[in-house]
Amino acid sequence: MRDVQYDSTAEQDYECPRCGDLVTAQSHPGTCADCGITFRNRGTPLE
Ligand SMILES: [Zn+2]
Repeated sequence: MRDVQYDSTAEQDYECPRCGDLVTAQSHPGTCADCGITFRNRGTPLE
């Protein structure tokens, strides 16, 4: 059993899955201005 933790105080990296644009922000940056696609969180470690 594991908990999924969201640290709302730490900056995380977000990446546009289309153009690969990187954004570092404390909160989700929303959508890419160029593509209109929702950024994905790159800070989530993969097991
Ligand atoms: Zn983009």
